[in-house]
Amino acid sequence: MKIFKIITLFPDFFQSPLKSGLLGKAIEKGLCHIECINLRQWGEGQYRQCDDYPYGGGSGMVLMPVPLLKAIESCKGDSKVLYPSPSGTVLNQDMVKELFHHDSFLFICGQYEGIDQRVINRYVDYEISIGDYVLSGGEYAALVIIDALCRYIPGFMSNPESLSDESFENYLLEYPQYTRPREIDGMCVPDILISGDHEKIRRWRLEKSIEKTRATRPDLYRLYIAKKDEVKQ
Ligand code: SAM
Repeated sequence: MKIFKIITLFPDFFQSPLKSGLLGKAIEKGLCHIECINLRQWGEGQYRQCDDYPYGGGSGMVLMPVPLLKAIESCKGDSKVLYPSPSGTVLNQDMVKELFHHDSFLFICGQYEGIDQRVINRYVDYEISIGDYVLSGGEYAALVIIDALCRYIPGFMSNPESLSDESFENYLLEYPQYTRPREIDGMCVPDILISGDHEKIRRWRLEKSIEKTRATRPDLYRLYIAKKDEVKQ
């Protein structure tokens, strides 16, 4: 079972995602355990303050180190500590697979201008960005990372074979998908997909994957060209 603990100022944020979709089902089936820890418990003073002005000036607030250190120390155990952050390494499928080797994760969700650097220096094993844009809080990113990880848990996906056939496997984006009806307002499903010729379909899909990757992700396409002799086509 994978264990995800999440230190957050907004535990309610997770209520709906943890009750719906595949993630909700996985929790119900006991495939993973997700626990939200309210940082406010370790806040200071009457108002349980958890943020303060940045040293050196500048706009915004920073999450204070003392409540965070106490929160981490109370629940870290054997977990790997992840801090979702725009300054982190940008997440990709290879990183998801690497992270999946661990069983227990503790997420620190930043808010405002982020968290005090000393917390990162002491405890953070992985500082991960989910893309080159800025979110308002680490909660969004934590959910993204948790969902990407859970897809590798046996029993999470109703169709686990699709894992090996998806975008980023073999350094390519996925080919176009079609389902019924065969024709709608003059738009038809490509004939080859109804030909029943599996080898031709496989080659057509590979071709489309290559075309799409070259057009929309030249960086990934270059990687594909460099690695294509090593990967399954
Ligand atoms: N001041 C920070 C900066 O310029 O890098 C941005 C802080 S952001 C408003 C608040 C929190 O959202 C961050 O501490 C982090 O936890 C989360 N966050 C924002 N963008 C993210 C991203 N691209 N990936 C992962 N986490 C992100």
